[in-house]
Amino acid sequence: METKPKILIVDDRIANLISLEKVLQDFDVEFVRALSGNDALKATLHNYFALAIIDVQMPDMDGYETVELMRTVERTQYLPVIFVSAIYSDEFYISKGIESGAVDFISKPIKPAILQGKVKVFLDLYRQAEQLRQLLHEKEQTNKDLKEAKEKAEYATYTKSMFLANMSHEIRTPLNGIIGMTEILENSELTKDQKKNLEIIKISGENLLSIINDILDFSKIEAGQIELDVFPFDLEKQLNTVYNLLKFKADDRHIYLKIEIDDNVPRYIRSDSLRINQILINLINNAIKFTERGGVIIKVKLSTKKNAGSIIKFEVQDTGIGIPKEKQGTIFQNFTQADASTTRKYGGTGLGLAISKKLAYMLGGEIGLNSEPGKGSVFWFTVKVEFANADEVEKDVENTGVEVNFSLFKVLLAEDNIINQKVGSMVLKTLGLYCDMVSNGKEALKMQLRNHYDVILMDVHMPEMDGLEATGEIRKYYALHTDKKPPVIVAVTANAFKEDRDRCIAAGMDYYLSKPFKTNDIKQVFKTIASNR
Ligand code: ADP
Repeated sequence: METKPKILIVDDRIANLISLEKVLQDFDVEFVRALSGNDALKATLHNYFALAIIDVQMPDMDGYETVELMRTVERTQYLPVIFVSAIYSDEFYISKGIESGAVDFISKPIKPAILQGKVKVFLDLYRQAEQLRQLLHEKEQTNKDLKEAKEKAEYATYTKSMFLANMSHEIRTPLNGIIGMTEILENSELTKDQKKNLEIIKISGENLLSIINDILDFSKIEAGQIELDVFPFDLEKQLNTVYNLLKFKADDRHIYLKIEIDDNVPRYIRSDSLRINQILINLINNAIKFTERGGVIIKVKLSTKKNAGSIIKFEVQDTGIGIPKEKQGTIFQNFTQADASTTRKYGGTGLGLAISKKLAYMLGGEIGLNSEPGKGSVFWFTVKVEFANADEVEKDVENTGVEVNFSLFKVLLAEDNIINQKVGSMVLKTLGLYCDMVSNGKEALKMQLRNHYDVILMDVHMPEMDGLEATGEIRKYYALHTDKKPPVIVAVTANAFKEDRDRCIAAGMDYYLSKPFKTNDIKQVFKTIASNR
């Protein structure tokens, strides 16, 4: 409910107060009377006034002194004051009045029409100021509500993504055990049938892992937790890696897979090569999956737009089933497939294109398709890049010809999961590496200070003391004991994101391996370590 504006009237004579109220009786206001300056100050403590009409000549504290005191308090600092004085015509009183912050004067005896006119002006101003205050208040409230709603939504997305991240982590740990063990079993003596069955276990495990990775990736992108990792790289080499990775799938389906790179496409560029690979693999996998006859061509072109820097366009062209026009708009949405029956026939989660779309935008580009049912599809995406030169691109360790005698390394494996311990140690064994094992960071620290290993493969999530903390402690020790050779610490974790990698490096780890343990990855890391020794 709107309250009436209040007017403070101050005069040492009650009769004057009554006559003031009478003159102003037509205004819809509430009067608060004060018989002295002191009374007036008291009244301002628990009232908010629109205006004060104050008699100048009062015993004890006169009107000027009263207003001077009011100006020192925030609440009444800007309170409009009309002085009422019998001797206002005196220059001295007027200037003193202005100094003390009066806004207007009126002389006694009061002329009703003049006082009413002045009061009306002040009340109008007051009402306008009130409206403004109200508007500001409402705006503040709306902003607050919006902020709260935004925070709630962000929190919900964050919890969802954390839930998915934790869940997929939990699923991945035993899954890594399964995949790792199949890799080891593959290298043992098996009958033909056993080999075939093992292959099925391996493929199923890898499919499950890629679905979980998709869900994790998607939720992380959605929660804004993915950063690009931009560095110079050899585009041609990357494309060959992708090609080699997928060529056998095309061969399996008896279709061709070709790459055509335009001559003007620079070989060395600066962008996030992993994310480009991820999109390419998604699109090529789809193209192979949905093509029975013919094949798939990957085309790479340079298209430089005005003011847009250099743009590289990747096209994945297939001769497969194609996509009807009405479905083309929706397939980039999460969990959407062109035709529900394709899930049964071809599998998939419907997340690949949604992830690819988000990644393409993150890379400064776009994504799209042209397709005709029965004829095939062309999926394309663009990426904003900078040119780089060969010197900037790190030399590949594999090409340095380092031959490593793995048995020379003293290795400690810190891993709390027994299955992963077993898989890890067996993979190391296939490389001729024997390791000691511990199951938490505390033990890792103790064993390291006792045995001084050359390399520690350190799980990040462990009970009692996690891998990051243990690394910190180990680094502290070696900083004080410079006569001893510090170990190389390799982070081993199921979280394959740059943020996780950055945290490991920041904690003092040197390299990064993502689970599941793969013989080749471990070999690569040890080759790098050997070449840097
Ligand atoms: P999925 O895991 O189901 O493949 P995607 O997001 O990668 O998820 O693809 C969504 C849907 O788009 C697929 O289920 C399929 O219906 C359609 N699609 C994608 N690529 C192709 C293609 N090259 N040819 C025909 N249909 C395709």
